[in-house]
Amino acid sequence: MTLTENDLQTADARPATFDSLNPRNGDVVETYPVHGEADVRAAVERAREAAAWWGALSYDERKERLNTWKGVITRRIAQLAEVIHQETGKPHGDALLESSLAIDHLAWAASHAEKVLKRRKVPSGLVMANQRATVEYRPLGVVGVIGPWNYPVFTPMGSIAYALAAGNAVVFKPSEYTPGVGAWLASTFREVIDRPVLQVVTGLGDTGAALCRAGVDKLAFTGSTATGKKVMAACSETLTPVLIEAGGKDALIVDEDADLDAAADGAVWGACANAGQTCAGVERIYVHERVYDEFLTKLVAKASDIHGTVDTQAAIGPITMPSQVDVIRRHVDDAIARGGRAVLGGPDAVGERFVQPTILVDVPEDSSAVTEETFGPTMTVAKVRDMDEAVARTNDSRYALGSTVYSKAHGMQIAERLRVGMTAINGVITFAGVPSLPFGGIGDSGFGRIHGPEGLKEFSYAHAITRQRMKPLLALTTFARTEKDEQRMAKLITMLHGRGSTLPKP
Ligand code: NDP
Repeated sequence: MTLTENDLQTADARPATFDSLNPRNGDVVETYPVHGEADVRAAVERAREAAAWWGALSYDERKERLNTWKGVITRRIAQLAEVIHQETGKPHGDALLESSLAIDHLAWAASHAEKVLKRRKVPSGLVMANQRATVEYRPLGVVGVIGPWNYPVFTPMGSIAYALAAGNAVVFKPSEYTPGVGAWLASTFREVIDRPVLQVVTGLGDTGAALCRAGVDKLAFTGSTATGKKVMAACSETLTPVLIEAGGKDALIVDEDADLDAAADGAVWGACANAGQTCAGVERIYVHERVYDEFLTKLVAKASDIHGTVDTQAAIGPITMPSQVDVIRRHVDDAIARGGRAVLGGPDAVGERFVQPTILVDVPEDSSAVTEETFGPTMTVAKVRDMDEAVARTNDSRYALGSTVYSKAHGMQIAERLRVGMTAINGVITFAGVPSLPFGGIGDSGFGRIHGPEGLKEFSYAHAITRQRMKPLLALTTFARTEKDEQRMAKLITMLHGRGSTLPKP
């Protein structure tokens, strides 16, 4: 990316540029401008003009352009995966997987936008039977997207692709750890659409804060709960609506009838893939007491094969954000200090850049390893009497993002009792790969949804229209209304709603 004079002009003392580093070795991957308030505002202004053009295109015209972009990304997927690999340190295969899923979501959003959002007729009801009622979901205008570094393509594209397909322009602020991924997305988009419909602003937290205050019509944030609160506070100044996709502390439940090999395999991948830096990654495991010992043996055996090393072929890469290593160490140390045991890994597994898989047992439920997001390849495993206890412990968290259940016969019954945004039965995090399913959480995991029809509606506003088809039988919204009309209205309502309202007998 070339820096312009403008990029280097800074009105205050903030640095003009920052480096994106390779977390495997600390090498500088590339240098990017720190965009300040004026730059961000200018980007939003440009986006506003582009949004007017983009939003006025037909669904087919937008679909065609988004599909062309999809083709470019797909043909250059290896290049994109390399940028992700360089900036996050994650293995190439993982970078390819997240890019592939993002492409699939882009395709779904582009081809389903019309069906989900176009004007449709809705029943007008008996009281307003003379009206034709319709609703349409319209683009908001300019959407600001603030993204994290852990899945630097998949996660922000959950907002970007759906916001674009709904007819909005987007200004995207990628994490300071993965600016190159954001720049790559914007530059390939620009090859297809020569208007600033998707722009990237780079910088540190202040650039994100500036985007919140730059007059966007909605702010889609993905990141930690703590930053999410700051984003919400900043957006509240201008009543800018927000979507918050924040952290998680997801549980995996193993019932007594589960396929234990599959459950152990899913648990290890769910907890350790991307070195555990997954918002919907497995961090807590609750196992039926009848299969606890057998499951734990299988889990330890499988996790023992996974190592994080500088070797680019290693199963897991480094911890991308250096300060996260301290959080992981604190959680592991606290668990051990409070009577927990590491049956694999432990304090010595937490290195300077790499953390090795760690399995903790006998950890008190109120310790940080169980209550806070660890974001490392660690998991706590606890024995439960039955599935009631597994459900209660899973639900006893301020986070509520994803979850997993392994059971041959009762997967659905257990899943339905979980207070979370998503559940995978007999597989892990599979819900993220189904474009028609909404993705998001509740509680400290945030609110609002990306993906699926809900994800398209999230970036639009409903416009309701009633059109009078014939004169009303009862003229209600007029001062010409008579007492007779009012009595007729009361009769009609009694007829419609006066019966069947008796409470069921206890
Ligand atoms: P952070 O909260 O640290 O940062 C997220 C983004 O916010 C970054 O782009 C960051 O910029 C920016 N930012 C920082 N300060 C501000 C501010 N004051 N105002 C506006 N923006 C700001 O999260 P991480 O990048 O560390 O991502 C990891 C977190 O993301 C984890 O908690 C994870 O669970 C969560 N996550 C949630 C997902 C979900 O869908 N629910 C998916 C993926 C991750 P900068 O990097 O420059 O500081």
